[in-house]
Amino acid sequence: MCLAVKTFIAFLNDMRIDKLFVTQDISDRKAAHKLVQAIGIEPELIEDPGFAYQWVRRHADPVITGKKVLLLTENKGSFLKKCPGTSYYTCCGYQILYMASYCSMDCAYCILQVYFHPPLLQLFVNHEAIFSELDKSKGLLDSRRIGTGEFTDSLIWEPFTDLTEQLVNYFADQDRLVLELKTKTTNIRRLKSLTHNRKTIVAWSLNTPEIIRTLEKGTASLEARLKAAWQCQQWGYPLAFHFDPMVIYPGWQQDYKRVIEMLFERLNPENMVWISMGTFRFIPALKSIIQRRFADTTLVYGEFIPGLDGKLRYLRPLREDVYSNMAEWIRQYAPEVALYLCMEDDCIWENSLGFNPASCGGLPAILDQAALEVCNLK
Ligand code: SF4
Repeated sequence: MCLAVKTFIAFLNDMRIDKLFVTQDISDRKAAHKLVQAIGIEPELIEDPGFAYQWVRRHADPVITGKKVLLLTENKGSFLKKCPGTSYYTCCGYQILYMASYCSMDCAYCILQVYFHPPLLQLFVNHEAIFSELDKSKGLLDSRRIGTGEFTDSLIWEPFTDLTEQLVNYFADQDRLVLELKTKTTNIRRLKSLTHNRKTIVAWSLNTPEIIRTLEKGTASLEARLKAAWQCQQWGYPLAFHFDPMVIYPGWQQDYKRVIEMLFERLNPENMVWISMGTFRFIPALKSIIQRRFADTTLVYGEFIPGLDGKLRYLRPLREDVYSNMAEWIRQYAPEVALYLCMEDDCIWENSLGFNPASCGGLPAILDQAALEVCNLK
């Protein structure tokens, strides 16, 4: 292997923790000790997680403060959650594995800035409970697809914990379930030597270099994401890609088209399980946060229309234009790939992709079938 690739796979994003809280109830556990050691700063023991929330809330900008404050605690609730889609739009029926929350990277459009009150990094240490819940639930789940990248980035935690490794090992033995790790990092080093049996999909959110540069602070470059994806392909992992959120700006067509070209110049379409698309949308509460924290961006100043779920979206013809162009470009290279829209209605599906998932058994069934074929499920 050439030196450049070696150096590249050794890279870990610089998640920097300035303040570490540990709840007393887990402070004696081996997993907590290992994490504290890996993080390398003196923890403050607290009885109530609420103390850490208050600590973050007292700062002038809790959104940015929370990106360097980590709470290690126990998840006393359920680890498996249904994706919070709404009935107004076509939802993929994804299962979320809630192992951690928030993110050390800083995307202007990130919903997590308003989703958690206050936002702070939180990692659950009761890993054994994850696996016992998976054991109990796996035969009962509606979906074959489980992902850790909904409330956090799946791979930002790699410098501190081997949880991903444990999950990949667990899913390798599953016949009807796949794990999706979704990321904007290149933290793939630990994936190298795992026996995954193609039951783990490594997925990247992709965007244009312009959007990455201006709106995705602290994330890996497009080139680095594609290089990491190529490396995972070499290690036998199935891949997926998410173009979400796509942003309309002068020159978006040529920029997104170029990203598609780069994607397929480097990667094998037959190894891609799915590609999703979603245009920029936001709940009204996010607008003032983006205006305050990213004063230079024009992101929220376009013409938006409120959807049935209360989120503001680009006007329908604009969204259809983005999706139909993208679909045309993608299908030139990958006519067979499962291409889907995130939270759009039947009419947009028909007008931009030419079909309505309900007529093909529903979106969850289409994606389960894609996993079945590309990941060798039974
Ligand atoms: S990488 Fe994802 S989770 Fe992290 S800040 Fe960006 S959008 Fe949010």
